[in-house]
Amino acid sequence: MRRLLVSGVIVAATMAGSAAGCGVAQSAGDGSTAAAPAASTGAKTPPTTTAVTDTVPTTTTTPPPPPPPSPPKPAITRDLIRYGARRQAETAAYARRHYGVSTDRVHPRVIVLHFTDSGPGSYPGVHALFDANQPNGGELPGVCAQFVVDQDGTIYQQVPLKLMCRHAIGLNDRAIGIEMIQQQGISSHWADQQILHRRPQIRSVLRLVRWLQARYHIATRNVIGHAMANDSPFFHDLEGWRNDHTDWQREDVLALRRRL
Ligand SMILES: [Zn+2]
Repeated sequence: MRRLLVSGVIVAATMAGSAAGCGVAQSAGDGSTAAAPAASTGAKTPPTTTAVTDTVPTTTTTPPPPPPPSPPKPAITRDLIRYGARRQAETAAYARRHYGVSTDRVHPRVIVLHFTDSGPGSYPGVHALFDANQPNGGELPGVCAQFVVDQDGTIYQQVPLKLMCRHAIGLNDRAIGIEMIQQQGISSHWADQQILHRRPQIRSVLRLVRWLQARYHIATRNVIGHAMANDSPFFHDLEGWRNDHTDWQREDVLALRRRL
C-alpha cells in the first residue's frame, strides 16, 4: 500500500510538472537541450523527493461534521379514515398483484407530492373521498394519501404512518403521499406555483417533508412530484401500470427542494 502510494505520487508529480510546466518542473527543463546533462539530472531528483514528503500529511483523516439537528415534528391533526380489516386485506391483495408482496405496510423511501383538484374549504370532501374506499382503475382499495395539507396550513393525517395508501402507481409500498388542496386551474405548473406562493400551506408542506425525510432517512432527490413517479428508481409495477398524472411538475419540485 505504502509503495503504491509513493509511486503514485511520483507519477502524479511528474505528470503535473510536464503538463503544467509550473514551479519545480520549469527548473527541470525537459525541453532545455542547452542544459548540461549533469545539471539536468541533479535538478530532477529533489523535486520528486519533496513531493513525496509533502503528501504524507494529507493522509491524516479529518473528523466528520456533526449531524444536523433533527427538524421538529410539525403540528398534525389526526383525522383518520376508516381502514379496517377489509380495507387492509384489499390493500394486501393490491400489493401482491402489483408489487409481489402481500402486505398493507409501507416502507418509505420516497415522498410523493400531489394536489387535489379542489378549492378552498374542500378538505372535508377530500377526506370523504379517501374514506369512501371506492374502486379506482377497477381495483380496490380506494385511493388515499397519508397526509393532506389544507390552504390554511393545517396538516391532516389520514392513516397511521405504517399503512400503505394508493396515491402513486408503482410507489405505494415505498412512498408517503402528501396531498395539497389546490385547484388545477389553467395548468399543473400554475397550480404548483399557487401552492409554492401560498405561505401558510407551503410552510406546512416543507415542515412535514423535512420531518418525514429525517424520520425515514429520505434523500431530497427522492422528494418527487406525482408527475415524476414513473422515472423514480424505486418505481415498480408487476402489472405494467404507469402514472398519467401531471401534478407537481419537475421544475416546481426543484423549486420546493431548494427550500428544504
Ligand atoms: Zn397526484
